[in-house]
This record gives sequence, structure tokens and C-alpha cells, in this order.
Amino acid sequence: MPNIVVKFGGSNLKDKKDVTRIIKIVENYGERLIIVVSAFYGVTNYLESSLASLKEGEDISKSVYLYLQALKKDAIDYHITDEALRSKTYSEIENCLEELSNLLKGIYLTADASSALCDYVLSYGEKLSAIFLTHVLKQHQMNVSIAYPEKFGLITDGVFTNASVDFKQSKESLLDYFSENKIYVVPGFYGVSREGKITLLGRGGSDYSAAAIAKCVEADSLDVWKDVEGFLTTDPRVVSHTKNIKYLSYVEAAELAYFGAKILHPRCVEPLIEPSIPLRLFHIYGACDDSNPLTIIGENFSVTDTVVKSITHSSEFGILKLKGPGVGSKPGILSVVTTALSNAGININSVITSQISINILLNKRDLNKARELVDISKLPSVMEIVTLDDVATIAAIGEGLVDNYGVAARIFSSLADQKINVRMSCSCASPVVSYFIVSEKDRAAAIRAMHKSLFEE
Ligand code: ADP
Ligand code: ASP
Ligand code: MG
Repeated sequence: MPNIVVKFGGSNLKDKKDVTRIIKIVENYGERLIIVVSAFYGVTNYLESSLASLKEGEDISKSVYLYLQALKKDAIDYHITDEALRSKTYSEIENCLEELSNLLKGIYLTADASSALCDYVLSYGEKLSAIFLTHVLKQHQMNVSIAYPEKFGLITDGVFTNASVDFKQSKESLLDYFSENKIYVVPGFYGVSREGKITLLGRGGSDYSAAAIAKCVEADSLDVWKDVEGFLTTDPRVVSHTKNIKYLSYVEAAELAYFGAKILHPRCVEPLIEPSIPLRLFHIYGACDDSNPLTIIGENFSVTDTVVKSITHSSEFGILKLKGPGVGSKPGILSVVTTALSNAGININSVITSQISINILLNKRDLNKARELVDISKLPSVMEIVTLDDVATIAAIGEGLVDNYGVAARIFSSLADQKINVRMSCSCASPVVSYFIVSEKDRAAAIRAMHKSLFEE
């Protein structure tokens, strides 16, 4: 009996008619399935902006309730025809919405929106869609039940907003919980700390929930359904004639996600590597069964003719530049800086040095704080500290990048032809990645030029 974890994201829940395809897909898998589901398309963003309004003193608790109630009612009326089941679904959704609305009212009244409370509020998007999907599958006579991470013990490190799963703590209870031959529907995006507090797994985190569960239950496969034809040669929102990638190694996929390929959460591949669980990508508007995965991510690797398999981009990172004569060759500077940043919980994504400057790649939201910390460290050789946030990172990823000559030349010529200035570049940080920084205004043009040169000519 196959033991598969399947993930349906917000991109599969844009329209109530998408759910008809999900039903067919689940029917084709048969029983013995763990389904991880995200919030309906746009709901997490909506809840996030509702929290922002509450923080500004606007009581939107009732309007959130009404908006989500209408969204669910529409989908329930369309998919659940059995009257008793329909009224049971309404009542569970109502209970959930009331809890949410009370929480929002509480935030409004107390003007207290701790990270713990915000994580708790945002988890409701996924809870609502899991309740909905469980009842829809019941309508189709499937043997299904909902499984909440707080019940089966998906334990995290307790970091709010962006927690990591503690596999050691979670594995045993998951193996025990998911032992029946049936379908389980799990709300994605969150786990719980050891103290039982809800902690989100970062935006796009349902991919990571699904991978973590797959690891804990020793699944045969993690099947992720998307609104695109698998992993593509670049982001289809930037280039319209992308090509499908049939196979990616774990390392390639992990680097692509790390450097911003929004199709997968940055840490989704990590849990799959050691147990060697394949991640298979499918298209929700393609065939409704699992016979033809569009992309398989696994342990084998290959070098293709283009060497580069995919180009990815991110506007998330900015640069903290420490300038001064000889900073690149004076010992001790990086140690002071990295300690100060680490003590403040700031993650360093990369460091590129030269004789006269040290460039530290950080999330843009941390740039000002990092600058202050370096400033107060009073490093004698650092004459000037500059932050750059009008930049974008573009990465070319593929096995063999370091060992094949001519690829970098091709990339940089394509940019030069378009008169795009590369502000900084780095190769070989990993054997499969070459990345560089351009001005934000050049981001889309740079990706198009590279894509054309590598994949279209
Ligand atoms: P879900 O809601 O199902 O998790 P996402 O919206 O997070 O789906 O991810 C799918 C989206 O990722 C696609 O619609 C596409 O716009 C975007 N994307 C970015 N880079 C790529 C890529 N290289 N290949 C395919 N899709 C990509
Ligand atoms: N709903 C969450 C988000 O929008 C998690 C996810 O979609 O994976 O970030
Ligand atoms: Mg996603």
C-alpha cells in the first residue's frame, strides 16, 4: 500500500471549481494518504493585512468574519449537497470563525498583538480550508478525517513566524498517529512549540509542513500539486515561454528555493534528502492522477546541455557594505560583525569580500538594524558603512556549473548586450550556483536576457 503525502496549495484553491479537480485527484490515489492543505488563495495575505489594520486601531473583527464566512459558504454550497453534512460543515466553520473573530476583537481591545497571537491568527486560514476539504471528501464517501498539527504533535523549535520542525520530537508521535489506512487532511503552515504554542513555518510554509510530515512517516513520495507545469526554467510571471524541467537533484532544488524560486518553500527539500524521499510536482490542470509527474526532485544528478537548469530571482536581500582600505585582509572584522548580527538574531545569507569592501547579503528588513550594530562596534578600519536595498539577486543553478567553462561568459554577455550592470557576483559558494546582484529596476530585463541566451537560442 503506497504511503504518500500530497500537498495542495493556495494556487490550487483559487476558485471553488478547482476543488472539483482536487476531488478527482484524491479519488485516483485511493486510501492511505496524508493531504496537507493551504489556506484558500489570498486568505493569508488578507489575514495579515487585517492584523495590520487592528494594530492601527481599526476594529475589523466583524468584517473578517463576514468575508471568510461568505467565501466558505459559496464553496460549501457548491460542493456539499448532502443536507446533514452541509449543516455539520457550516457549524464547524462557524465555530472556527467565531474563535478567530474573538481573537481579533481581543487584539483590538487590548492593542496587544504579540508574535504568538499573530501566528495563532494566521493559522486559521489553513484550519478553515482543512475543515472544508475534509467535509467535501466525506461527501464523496471517502474515509477521511482532519488531523491538526497540535493533536499529532508536529513539534517545532518554538520560533514564531519562521519556525523549524524538530524531527526527533515529532517522528514517533506522527508514526503512531497516522497509522490507519485512510485519508487524513492536515492544515499546513504551522506546527507547535514544546509548550504547545502555534508557530508558523514561514510564508509558503505548507510545502515545508508536507515535507516534514513525509519525513516523519517515512513516505514513499511527496506529491506537490501546483498551478504551473512543474518546475520551469524560470519564473513564468517574468518570462512567458519557459520550459519544463523533468528532473532536479535535491541540491539544485534546495538552492533554487533558497534563492527565491517561489514555487517551493526555501526549506522544503531539506527533510527529504536523508530518507531520500522523491518530491514529485504535478499540474492541477493536467491529468488528475500521479502517473506522469512533471518534475521529479531526487538524489540523482545530471549535467544538461545548457548546464544551467533554472534561473531564479529574489528582491528579499539587500547589501550591507563595510568600506575601508584593506578591510578584506585585516583579521577579526568579520568575527566582530557576525557575532553582533548573530546575537541580534540576524541571519547572514552570504559574504563577498574584496580588499576595500566587505559585502554582507542580508534580508532587507534587517539592513538598518545591522548597520546600527556595526556602527556601534566601532571597527577602526571601517571608514564607511553603506546599505543597498534597491537591488535584486539573480541566481543561475545547475549541476556542473563550476566545472564547465563558458557558462558565466554566456550569462554576462547576455547582460552586457542589454547594457545591464552587474553590481556584484559570486560563483562557487555552492558547486551548483552562480549568483549576482543587479539594480532592482534591471531585474526582469536581466532574467529575460539570460533566459533567452541559455534556453531559447
Ligand atoms: P502554492 O500556493 O500551491 O504553494 P505558489 O504560488 O507558492 O503555489 O507557487 C507556484 C507559483 O510559483 C507559480 O504560480 C509561479 O508563478 C511561481 N514560480 C516561481 N518560480 C517558478 C519556477 N521556476 N517554476 C515554476 N513556478 C515558479
Ligand atoms: N498560506 C500560507 C501562505 O500564504 C502558507 C502556504 O501557502 O504555504 O504563506
Ligand atoms: Mg507556496
